[in-house]
Amino acid sequence: MASKTYNGITIVLDAGHGGRDGGSVGVNGTIEKQINLAYTLALKERLVKAGYRVELTRKNDDGLYSNLAKNKKVSDMNARLEIIKKTNPNLVISIHMNSFPNKSASGANTYYRVGDEASQTVANLIQASLNTYCNVPNKLGKAGDYFILNSSYYTAVLIECGFISNPEEESLLNSEEYKNKMIDAICSALMLYFGKAI
Ligand SMILES: [Zn+2]
Repeated sequence: MASKTYNGITIVLDAGHGGRDGGSVGVNGTIEKQINLAYTLALKERLVKAGYRVELTRKNDDGLYSNLAKNKKVSDMNARLEIIKKTNPNLVISIHMNSFPNKSASGANTYYRVGDEASQTVANLIQASLNTYCNVPNKLGKAGDYFILNSSYYTAVLIECGFISNPEEESLLNSEEYKNKMIDAICSALMLYFGKAI
């Protein structure tokens, strides 16, 4: 299917971690940075087809840090911030997978920047949609203290798609079917927020 013409909405998709920072490791070996990128690329494809303009912070396995930087985490996060500022997006969506010592923890969580009404609205819409599409127990968007949310004034949410520390959820998250459900859920929420068909 050919992409539709630009619908006026620009979104930055941020796949969490990358390069030497693998993020969490699942009980059965899922590497967070890899699955974050897979979800991000799938979401990008859907949004671009629908006429959204999408910029990625990272397009491959590499981190965004300078190899010369002493603090690679800071260097990486600043590079992401630069991309966001340059893009001047309507929304930033950061994609992560969760991990918790208690293996029974499960479900997607969407975080917004504290005190930012637009971010909270988007987070609640995405969370409500995830609750419906992915059988997540009744959750609301949560206030999140993350650099990617706090470092700019852009509307921004961070989605922890699920727990790779939970063996059942790890295997779900790795299935095409569940990934597509997550993408459907996110797209349906964005359609409600922006009023643009996906
Ligand atoms: Zn993460």
